[in-house]
Amino acid sequence: MRVRWPVWSALGAVAAGAAALVVGPPVWVVDRLAATFPGCLYRVKPHERLVALTLDDGPDERTTPLILAELRRHAARATFFLIGERVPGREALVRRMVDEGHELGNHFMHDRPAIRLSGEELARDLDQSHALLAPFARVRWARPGSGWYTRETVAAMSRKGYGCALGSVYPYDATIPSSAFAGRYILRNVRPGAVIVLHDGGGRGRRSARTLSTVLPELRRRGYRVVALSELALAESGPPLHRGSTGGGPRPTSTALPQRGSW
Ligand SMILES: [Zn+2]
Repeated sequence: MRVRWPVWSALGAVAAGAAALVVGPPVWVVDRLAATFPGCLYRVKPHERLVALTLDDGPDERTTPLILAELRRHAARATFFLIGERVPGREALVRRMVDEGHELGNHFMHDRPAIRLSGEELARDLDQSHALLAPFARVRWARPGSGWYTRETVAAMSRKGYGCALGSVYPYDATIPSSAFAGRYILRNVRPGAVIVLHDGGGRGRRSARTLSTVLPELRRRGYRVVALSELALAESGPPLHRGSTGGGPRPTSTALPQRGSW
């Protein structure tokens, strides 16, 4: 038994790790992160049974239509965080997102970690992407590439009139190639006011469409309405917990927040 104990112990640790991966961080961990690294929206406390759906890294002419079809089928709305350089040549698709009632978000000009950019590069990147998105709709939210941010990132977004948006239900879909896993993860961790993060584009976009085909009807069965980020933010009751402040817009942070990558 003395020999086996470390084996069982290690297996136990692996099982606990796997369980944590499926169950996700408890809400208080997300709130602690939001309070420790203020300036970004992670989730809200809504006065209705709402969740926000966000989709990063589009548009993609092959996979965005699959996602749009699922959203239409299940009367759901989403915020698409678009990569600026992917917009030229796909304008009709972006127009379709807006026409079908979805919101556009700015995911910067290129798919790269925002934290690696200097303040100047960051502002330019945000501006270039903004210029491509603004003709389609009012764009209120930006999401930093890879989900890492600093005081400067948030301040640069704020100066351009953007709120910083992260999320509270991140089903690892950029790294775990299983729509079944993503679906289970979302349904296990979703709460009123949650912000779900999925990805568009290539294989990830196809998986997201499959994930939504099972998740959206189940959310509806549970009494949730799936909305864009701005609608969720408007439905917030009480002081905004997600910004880690007592109110107002995004506030600066002093430290980089290590988020799970590939946003
Ligand atoms: Zn991304």
